[in-house]
Amino acid sequence: MHIITSAITALKTENAEYLVDILSLHFAIKTKEDLSKILPDILQKLEEMKAQIGQYCKGIPRENQFAKIRDKFPSEEGSALALVVGALDSKYRRLFLTNDLLKLSVPSIATTVIHELSHHFLRTKDYWYNNYAMYERQKPKSNYFEIHDRVTFAEMSYVNEPDGKNKAIWSKLRARSAEDEFLRSLCIEDGIGNEQKNKIIMTNADSIVAIIMSLSHKQIMKDEDARRV
Ligand SMILES: [Zn+2]
Repeated sequence: MHIITSAITALKTENAEYLVDILSLHFAIKTKEDLSKILPDILQKLEEMKAQIGQYCKGIPRENQFAKIRDKFPSEEGSALALVVGALDSKYRRLFLTNDLLKLSVPSIATTVIHELSHHFLRTKDYWYNNYAMYERQKPKSNYFEIHDRVTFAEMSYVNEPDGKNKAIWSKLRARSAEDEFLRSLCIEDGIGNEQKNKIIMTNADSIVAIIMSLSHKQIMKDEDARRV
């Protein structure tokens, strides 16, 4: 909750140059005008999440609780550490965490929970995953969220080049657009523009996590400095 509140504070109080700097790590934006096109959307999504997470914090209704289970969840692509159970329109939307998740570092737990809550409240999809742990290992002392964001954004930029080095994301998105209503509505088969890229990023769970983490990073540092004085 604190992380999301910090991200919202940053969106509301930081100057436009700073926000362009941070958000251009994720979105196809370069100028303040570009920023003004996406800012209301991001703010609305984060405010919505913040309002709804209150349900988890207060502990009601019971259907929206956290539950801990012992083992990993096996899935087609590997094993999940946490998941949201329940159809989006059902009243049961419990968030299940595994013991394996709780053994990880605090940022890993926080990002996993935000990831799952974004599925829950913003109906995000898993178009691709960002591997934070890998970057944490490579550059342990850096702000690895930002490093990873740069990589993700760079990868998105190759979507227009089916023969470029990022065939993976391009072909994945194309393949999914056959059964994914949202992707189909963007008509990405014939190429992809900045507006479409931004919309996809705002709908990918791990991208929402990365946006929240890089926005909240400075704000959290600021709060901690203020506490130390
Ligand atoms: Zn997911």
